[in-house]
Amino acid sequence: MRSATAEICLQSLQHNVQKIKNIAPHSKIMAVVKANAYGHGLLAVASALTDVDAFAVARVEEALTLRSGGIVKPILLLEGFFSTDELPILVANNIQTTVHIEQQLDELEQADLDAPIHVWLKMDTGMHRLGIRPDNCKRAIERLKNNPNVVQPARLMTHFSCADETDPSITQRQINIFDELVAGEEGEHSIANSAGVLAWPSAHRDWIRPGIMLYGVSPMIGATAVEHDLKPVMTLTTDLIAVHDIKKGETTGYGGIWSASTDTRLGVVAVGYGDGYPRMAPEGTPVLVNGRIVPIVGRVSMDMLTVDLGAQCQDKVGDKVIMWGAGLPAELVAEHIGTIAYELVTKLTQRVTLKYV
Ligand code: PLP
Repeated sequence: MRSATAEICLQSLQHNVQKIKNIAPHSKIMAVVKANAYGHGLLAVASALTDVDAFAVARVEEALTLRSGGIVKPILLLEGFFSTDELPILVANNIQTTVHIEQQLDELEQADLDAPIHVWLKMDTGMHRLGIRPDNCKRAIERLKNNPNVVQPARLMTHFSCADETDPSITQRQINIFDELVAGEEGEHSIANSAGVLAWPSAHRDWIRPGIMLYGVSPMIGATAVEHDLKPVMTLTTDLIAVHDIKKGETTGYGGIWSASTDTRLGVVAVGYGDGYPRMAPEGTPVLVNGRIVPIVGRVSMDMLTVDLGAQCQDKVGDKVIMWGAGLPAELVAEHIGTIAYELVTKLTQRVTLKYV
């Protein structure tokens, strides 16, 4: 069988958790496992993360998958509930909710619940995506304090927009705004995503919320995980399904957009956009064949792509190919393609087998 496999190394996952604990020893860890644990397999990853304190997901379905899979630790919905119908489900399954708009505050006040629910108030300190604007935060906190449907005290959080960048000014401003808003407020606080964990110790607070760094990928622009002593958890592997010589001037693939500048040998690799490998990967995107980096040439097709192995190569059909992961950081591949490693790992399709090693 020739198919792409995402090897998921649970030991590397555990290594990364220990690393996170060393970096933020006084904070509890809320492991972000939304989007199928960034493509790594929700239940398998959550079950292996025995050393974290809670999980965060984006959708109630993800939280319920965790519960039915035997996960008993706290689970937070990062975007909160989408309709009041979800509230009893959250209560029954002990799922925590974010509140980021006034409408959710209204609905939480009007709901008739069997038990109070844990709430995180998300405050917009500069991301301007989800969150209560600073001017309205004090009032929102008061409303939560007076709401019998809420476990007291509600927790307070914000999310960074630019902590992965080298310019610290926006992130520092977000921290300052958060500090003003939470001054004198009881309860637990949370600010830091992975970039915050790595670059902003002052933002660690009661809870950190690492996502991408758990999976051994650097959130920082221009960096790779190895610089933070993190280990890639996913290695996307496949193999060569054809090797053949091509003459100078001949082209390969749809559209014939690339032609050989010298006689060379091409390798056809069994992965394509049908597996989630980006079709937009340009010529020169690195691929690891038998431990050496070779460039993609021609267009990525649905089931395969082509690499220039070089005229002298010894590679043969069946040889192992690594698209990203151990030996080839996903961050580097993503940079070539003009995307981020988050997108590479989360976008693999069902056709790719996840193999836990
Ligand atoms: N916290 C919130 C609110 C998020 O939305 C996310 C992810 O988007 C994270 C934490 C984790 O971010 P990262 O994967 O960059 O660590």
